[in-house]
Amino acid sequence: MNDFSGTGVSPGVVIGKVQRFIQSKNFGAVSASLSQVLDQLENVANDLEIRAKDIELESAREILLAQALIARDPALSEAISLRLSDEVIDPDVRSTLEDAFSGFRDALMAVGGYFAERVADLDEIAHRLISKLAGREVEQLNLTKPRIIIAEDLTPADTASLNLEFALALVISKGGPTSHTAIVARGLGIPAIVGCAGVLDIQEDVEILVDGRDGVVVINPSNEEVARRQSRESSFRARAEAIRGPGFLRDGTPVTLLANAGSLDDVEMAIKVGAEGIGLFRTELLFLDRHSEPSIEEQVHLYASVFTSMAGKKIIIRTLDAGSDKPVPFINAEVEANPALGVRGWRLVRTNEVILNRQLDAIANAAVQVKNNGVQFDIWVMAPMISTPAEAKEFASKVYSLGLKNAGVMIETPAASLHADKVLKEVDFASLGTNDLSQYVMASDRLDARLSDMTTTWHPAVLRAISIAAKSAKKLGKPIGVCGESAANPQLAAVLIGLGVDSLSMAPSALADVRGFLAQVTSEQCLKAAKGVLDTSSAEEARDLAISKLGN
Ligand code: PEP
Ligand code: MG
Repeated sequence: MNDFSGTGVSPGVVIGKVQRFIQSKNFGAVSASLSQVLDQLENVANDLEIRAKDIELESAREILLAQALIARDPALSEAISLRLSDEVIDPDVRSTLEDAFSGFRDALMAVGGYFAERVADLDEIAHRLISKLAGREVEQLNLTKPRIIIAEDLTPADTASLNLEFALALVISKGGPTSHTAIVARGLGIPAIVGCAGVLDIQEDVEILVDGRDGVVVINPSNEEVARRQSRESSFRARAEAIRGPGFLRDGTPVTLLANAGSLDDVEMAIKVGAEGIGLFRTELLFLDRHSEPSIEEQVHLYASVFTSMAGKKIIIRTLDAGSDKPVPFINAEVEANPALGVRGWRLVRTNEVILNRQLDAIANAAVQVKNNGVQFDIWVMAPMISTPAEAKEFASKVYSLGLKNAGVMIETPAASLHADKVLKEVDFASLGTNDLSQYVMASDRLDARLSDMTTTWHPAVLRAISIAAKSAKKLGKPIGVCGESAANPQLAAVLIGLGVDSLSMAPSALADVRGFLAQVTSEQCLKAAKGVLDTSSAEEARDLAISKLGN
């Protein structure tokens, strides 16, 4: 049997025997009346809340509480009430409920991204409800020996209540990097791989190796393979733990290492791992699950808390990047044929200018409030999805008019990169959003797992786009950083430095690894790797070349 690969979402290398967890969904015919269904739906919500109480890990607890909220959503009971009655007992209530849930499923799938992955929550609630109506207990993942768990998907309740003494690693055939399994596994600190197609073919008790950094499963691994992967993982960890403080290369060249954050919890993590500042504060979280705009006061409160937490440090706050993979219900209600190419990010100034203006007001008010409290800060404000010098100019003038000093743009469209010499004239700094830049340069959807080999910053075409922007920034003497996922890959981070970027912003969990790796390589190595990758023909060639110049 061949080895398998997926997306590594929690690093670590382990070997162990497999325990498969395949839930039976075969209940036979289930009949029920409307009041029986609604009573059991309430019981499902209660069960979830009760389980949440016993769970220590905060992220897991929150997931269960959010599921309980979905189960209590009046729109869900309404959809059920439309299809059932108390006068006639439905002999096939399962199909009826599937129909009632399907409208919600389709709506979530259609918006994609974060929302599409919440379909798993709905499916979990439906499964629990049918189990209850069939008079069955939901199967539990029961571990009595150390095992690597293989499953199609794990519910948050399964993952959160794992017996850590025995759970060696998780390999899931479905799911993406923002699935519950990924979030909880990282929180628990056990290796995990998601989106690992074919892995369900592995039988019970087969010995496998799981490399959660590379996203690789090896069946019956040789001793050499185990030793090689374990030693690589240990050197990653040793390097990461050995160094603290600001980033630098082996020859002493400083590299500013910043963290990406979307909440105050992330900001705390950033401080814990010694980030020199926040290189991207995503403001979408406050807007994402809402039906109406958060008030200016609520926004000021969040932004002022972030500025205060990062007192004395640099914070780049990004204006609302609603649309496409981050749809906001009350803003992106209109159906677009191509949401990734539609009215998203700063382009919302065309349709929702007041929302963007109010957000900028909130940022400026928060800055004043924090200053009046005697806190020192260094706030930079940035707009997403800028394509033209005119957009950059319009954004900067709004920022300056509010008394804020540093206005910048994300470079994440091919237009902004190719035209960076003109775009950057209008602003004070730039940050390369390599997640979107890779998607747009390669014309391949960042959310489509079938194209993930193509949607990569390692592709030389994307690296050329980065190089063009970095050169323009250098000529104009404007700072340029990277805040896409690429900055979290140690070798790619070194290549980006070689291409001329001066700061890297990444998920806080990646910072120690990147800092450790950069301290092993010189500026000359970075330059050589950067020069080399620009002349390759594929992402694989570029990655191999970088590893040959920089080491593993
Ligand atoms: C990016 O596109 O690289 C980026 C950092 O922004 P987001 O992932 O939020 O679109
Ligand atoms: Mg982006």
